[in-house]
Amino acid sequence: MPTSGSASSGQGQGQGQGQDQGQNPIPSLTTKYSGVPARLQQEAVDAKARLYSQKTVPDSVPRKKKALPPGVSEAGFDRAIAELKDALGHENVEVNGTDRPLVDGWYMEHPNTHDAYHIAEQEELVCSAVVYPGNTREVQTIVGWANKHQVPIYPISMGRNIGYGGAAPRVPGSVVVDLGRRMNRIVNIDGDNASCVVEPGVSYFALYEEIQRRGLPLWIDCPDLGGGSVLGNAIDRGVGYTPYGDHFANHCGMELVLPSGEVLRTGMGAMPGPQPEPQPEPQPQNSSGATDSQARDGAADVPNPTWQSFQAAYGPYIDGIFSQSNYGIVTQMGFWLMPATGHQSYMITFAREDDLARIVDIIRPLAQKRILGNIPQLRHVIQELAVTGKPRSFWQYQKPMPRDVIRARASTLFPPGGGDVSWVFYGTQYGDTAASIAGQLATVRAAFAQIPDSRFLLPTDVAADHYLHSRVAVCSGQPGLRELDWLNWVPNAAHLFFSPIVPTAGGGGRTTASAIHNLVAQLHAQHGFDLFPTMCVAAREMHYIANIVYDRADRDAKRRAIALMRDLIRHAAARGFGEYRTHLLFADQVAQSYSWNGGALRRFNESIKDALDPNSILAPGRNGIWGRRFRGQGWEILDGDGRDLLIDGVVPKL
Ligand code: ADP
Repeated sequence: MPTSGSASSGQGQGQGQGQDQGQNPIPSLTTKYSGVPARLQQEAVDAKARLYSQKTVPDSVPRKKKALPPGVSEAGFDRAIAELKDALGHENVEVNGTDRPLVDGWYMEHPNTHDAYHIAEQEELVCSAVVYPGNTREVQTIVGWANKHQVPIYPISMGRNIGYGGAAPRVPGSVVVDLGRRMNRIVNIDGDNASCVVEPGVSYFALYEEIQRRGLPLWIDCPDLGGGSVLGNAIDRGVGYTPYGDHFANHCGMELVLPSGEVLRTGMGAMPGPQPEPQPEPQPQNSSGATDSQARDGAADVPNPTWQSFQAAYGPYIDGIFSQSNYGIVTQMGFWLMPATGHQSYMITFAREDDLARIVDIIRPLAQKRILGNIPQLRHVIQELAVTGKPRSFWQYQKPMPRDVIRARASTLFPPGGGDVSWVFYGTQYGDTAASIAGQLATVRAAFAQIPDSRFLLPTDVAADHYLHSRVAVCSGQPGLRELDWLNWVPNAAHLFFSPIVPTAGGGGRTTASAIHNLVAQLHAQHGFDLFPTMCVAAREMHYIANIVYDRADRDAKRRAIALMRDLIRHAAARGFGEYRTHLLFADQVAQSYSWNGGALRRFNESIKDALDPNSILAPGRNGIWGRRFRGQGWEILDGDGRDLLIDGVVPKL
């Protein structure tokens, strides 16, 4: 069962280090916590076959150099690792030595040793070892060890943070703390409260399958791909597409190990649960079944019954500082689940590129009035082509695909007589009755019908393999794999996300949806990339997500992608657009762009970092937050520093 986190379950064996994965069977969810559910097994086989048919890079690449933590000698590292093995068991510590080739794998068989979608050299962001804790107490042991030996540690839950750095640590030679392999229990699902508590290694697939198995009328909320961890995605502030799509906003309660080694529960979890009535005879400790890590201070640990009911508790609301930061290792997290309801997905196509401003202006009041119940997506028609899984090679040229080529190709994807398409809006309406949904649909249709030549289509109007059907699933909380298909656009495809926050405002001026779109389009053209924009449009802001797809075997493409990212961040910042999330290697530049009042936010973050983590052991550099030990030593990759990541690398020159 994927709900078992026991060390003896054998789950998670063969994480991908040093193996040729081309021929391996894809791990299933019943044999591995990060595996694929049976219902998607064939889809995974097909997706992998398509990706591998486009692959020219070798499955496995020999290592050139040994990765060591900064400032630690080889002998010192060996001694420290021996100590860690003694503490956690030899089988739970893997040294990532030069005998371990680098294996990028693919989404379902991803590495925990480096960034599979490398944008710098493949071996640049590599860890020195991976450690697999089995419970909160072992996480505390690892933190104590890291402080003693001054070794940076980098926690991951699943390590599928693709497009943002995957499983890679920002500081090469860090020890990756892979929580998912042994800490993958669904601790609790409360059908009445509509909530759950999960450990780091619970994927969307696993949570969904368990809810189905129990027959509970609850939805999860998942991002476009379902293999990530529920917990990891939320603390990186990922989003999904049901009305519970803001993952961090719908969490309730965390358990963390702080860099000091202390365990903290946030929210109502900070208050102990009800204690047993006094007994005439002393009860044996742990008789309630509490695990070792739960029993603290000599009392049986019954979690507070309102831990998953109220987020803030009493005093400052601190959960936020543990998202997109390096202040703690999250070992458990609570989430609200949505009661299942009726739903109807649809798409609306728009004929002209410059319809964008009007579309956004129509979405805004619909979203503010909550007539749009979720975060709908507005996609450029080029995505319709890419998500068919067919390569861009029908267009023979290096330079970006012109609008008329995209339009001609895409026209086959819509029902005949549909006319031209430039933008596609994917929405879903929710309600307990058909009448309620029909009423909402009528309002939405009427609003968008103001745009000439727009077309409203239901799933029954399009072909069985049209992407709209996968939106139906994702927008009702059913995790899938379909979104992998656009990775076939170029061979050996990898991608980076450029994801600024933009006002939900369509009109003219420098700070509107059209302005950022024009800017992004112009920079993509300049650096020779096709532009894949998806807008996740909320009532007052949109996540404008441009997906930069590049061939990871092509150094020139990598160099152009890096230059494009750096230009995008700089030019967007000049107009007040800042990223909500970014790849590890661009974190410093993004953090730098939040510069109001001389960088007051950065100084505040650093003060917290230094107070909580005086030895700077936890994920140094993540989200551009460097502890005292690293700050100002040349680690930061800043705007205008002239650094060529493919030549100079990411480690400061002495
Ligand atoms: P995914 O769910 O996409 O596989 P990851 O496990 O890669 O996500 O997590 C996303 C990022 O969040 C990681 O790169 C890491 O920096 C951070 N992170 C993940 N899990 C934890 C955790 N349990 N505690 C602290 N930080 C974490």
